[in-house]
Parts: sequence; C-alpha cells; structure tokens
Amino acid sequence: MRRWHARLLLLVLAVACRPAAPSPAAPAQRPRVVLISLDGFRWDYVDRPAAVNLRALAARGVRAERMLPSFPSKTFPNHYTLVTGLTPAHHGIVANVMQDAALGTFRINDTTAIREPRWWGGEPIWVTAETQGRRAASYFWPGSEAAIQGVRPTWWFPYEHTRPNAQRVAQVLAWLAMPPDSAPAIITLYFSDTDDAGHRYGPMAPQTDSAIARVDSAVGAVVDGIARLGLADVVNVLVVADHGMAPSSSERLIVLDDLLDVSTVDVVDWTPVAAIAPRDGDTARVLRALTGRHPHLQVYRKGEVPARYRFDGHPRITPVIGIADEGWSITDRAFLQRRGAATFDGGQHGYDADLPSMGAVFVAAGPGIARGRVVPPFRNVHVYPLLAHLLGLRAAPSDGSLDSVRRVLR
Ligand SMILES: [Zn+2]
Repeated sequence: MRRWHARLLLLVLAVACRPAAPSPAAPAQRPRVVLISLDGFRWDYVDRPAAVNLRALAARGVRAERMLPSFPSKTFPNHYTLVTGLTPAHHGIVANVMQDAALGTFRINDTTAIREPRWWGGEPIWVTAETQGRRAASYFWPGSEAAIQGVRPTWWFPYEHTRPNAQRVAQVLAWLAMPPDSAPAIITLYFSDTDDAGHRYGPMAPQTDSAIARVDSAVGAVVDGIARLGLADVVNVLVVADHGMAPSSSERLIVLDDLLDVSTVDVVDWTPVAAIAPRDGDTARVLRALTGRHPHLQVYRKGEVPARYRFDGHPRITPVIGIADEGWSITDRAFLQRRGAATFDGGQHGYDADLPSMGAVFVAAGPGIARGRVVPPFRNVHVYPLLAHLLGLRAAPSDGSLDSVRRVLR
C-alpha cells in the first residue's frame, strides 16, 4: 500500500511537472543563428582585459582553444570558407586579389567584381537557408552582395567600412524582433575594428586593446538585446574570426626585385603570399630565380605546395607561389619608393594557417550549444556544417564535417 501511494505520488508529480505543450498562439520557435565575425580577432584576444562580454559568453557556452583558418589566412578566402565549409582552393576565392581567365581581376574593393556570382563557388549558408524555405539577413559578409546560385540573402547591404557598429547592431536586433514566421533564421554581422588596429599598430598594441573593447561591447549589445527580446532560448550566437595577426616589421622585408626581374612576371598578389605568373610562361626560370634565394621565402610550383596547405587545383592559383615566413612581408623597390617601408610596421596575416598567431577566435552560446566547455582547436571548414545543423538545414557537400565539432553541441 505504501508502495502504491508512492507510485501515485510520482505519477501526479510527473504530470504536474511536464512542460506545457506549445499552444497554437505561441508555437515553439525554430532555432536561429547570429554569426558574428570580428575581423582579425586572434584566439588569445579573448583573454585580453577588454574582452569581458566574450568571456561571459564563453562561460555559458563554448570556446575553442583556437580555430584554424584555411590557407591563405586572408579575409575574403576565410570568410567564404566559414559560410561554405570549402577550402579556398575549392570555393575559388583563393586570395583577396586574384585573376581569372574569363572574369579578369578580383579586388575586394571592386563592387562590380564582388557582385559577380561566377567568382563565388560552393553554397553559402544563406543560400542553403533561403532554398530550404527559411530567410537570411546579412549585415555585411564577403559574398553576400552576389546572387550566388541566383540567390542573395533576403536582406543585405553594400559594404561600407565606416558604418557605425551601433547601427549594425540595431539592425540585427530589429531583424530578430520580427515575427517568428518572417524573421531571418540566419543573420551575419561583421566588424572590422580588430583587423584595422592589428594591421596598423600590431597585435599587442594598446590601440588593438581599444579595438577589442569596441567589438566586445558590440557583441555584448547583441547578446543583451537577444535576452531583452526573450529569445535567449531560440537564438544561437556564434562569434568567429577569419584569421589572427602576427607582428610585422619594416626590418623583415623580402624585396622581390633583389631576386628576380619583376618586369618579366605578373605579381597578382604580393604579401605575405606572392602569387606569381611568368609573362613568358617559363615557370622553371622563375622557380630557379626564387628557390632558396631568401631564407624567409618558401617558393613552390603550383601543384607542389605542401599538402597540409590544401592549396592546389584551382585555375586561379598562379604557376608560382611564394610564402613569407611569419612576420615577413614581400614587396618590391617601386612600392617601397611610393609608400615607404614603414607601411610594413604593424601586423600582418595570410601566413601558414597552422601558425598559432594565425589562429582565430571561436566563442558560441545558445540553445544548441554546450555549456561551459573549452574544445580543442578545429579547422574553420567545420563551421558550415555546424551552422546547418543548428538551423535544422540539409548541408551542401563541403570539406567540413559535423563530427569534427560535435563537442560544440549541447
Ligand atoms: Zn580579415
């Protein structure tokens, strides 16, 4: 009898404690994601004094020891890897400056080029979302201005470097406040402050601490806004960067015309990855001139770049690739005369993506994310399948895998 009473009590408790079924007036909301890029925010900046909001976000979510960018550790290649899960050699944005036989030259400040869909291979997450019946919004992201596979995010903006961060945050919160049926499922948001300061003053400079403070407070404003809207159980916030930053110096220069007659080659991109095409097609001559000629310049024939760089196979990769060692810059006499060597004092990225200095931040929190966990380093190709999983979307084929980032999930 006592046992029967105990069972009855348990049954009553179970019924009483069962969560209320969602009523038709308030259907359970499907998960959403805000993907925030802090350009050039190195993984260890999270421990700098100013990064208070990021540390708070990590404490109730996940922080990666560091996220490894893809080679070259440059801005456009890596932002596009983050949203497609493809390496630069697979999605085609192989550099910030590149050439294509049919399309001409790509530069990141050339609006016509960046809006040309044929530069952009693969399927960014906003296309995955829009083609599977959900909406996407972008407050800036490389690729968001092009109709890739004929699709743009429902909301997007032409890039404007000086647009105030507060205005970007306000728009993101306005999108989140929309009715659940029409609100975007995936929102991208971008801030450039840490890259700007890191290049100009170097990663350890006090000006970089100020930039960390500015982007950290912007992240804090997004997180607070989500809580105010009552969406903390709906919205996952992922804070990422495209790459880190290494100190560079006017005393660490590789002057190409000391090694080679630069009038005999097209240098498509300069530093720290020199993309070189011989004008007469004589690759062997250029390789002979450059190989082993400078202790801080590694030179490869296309197809012979070491496999761990995963930088092979795309037609936009030039016949010769020169890669500067960490902290070194590649230039020529004409540039030095025009701009002065001091332009190389500060910080640079683009180097070997496995260098700790090139590692990027990854901090995430939300209903789909584990709580209070630090995960080992992982490559940025895995972010796309993670995004698709969090949103309940079928991921397009990519170089990433959800299995590699399972520990990020709750
Ligand atoms: Zn960048």
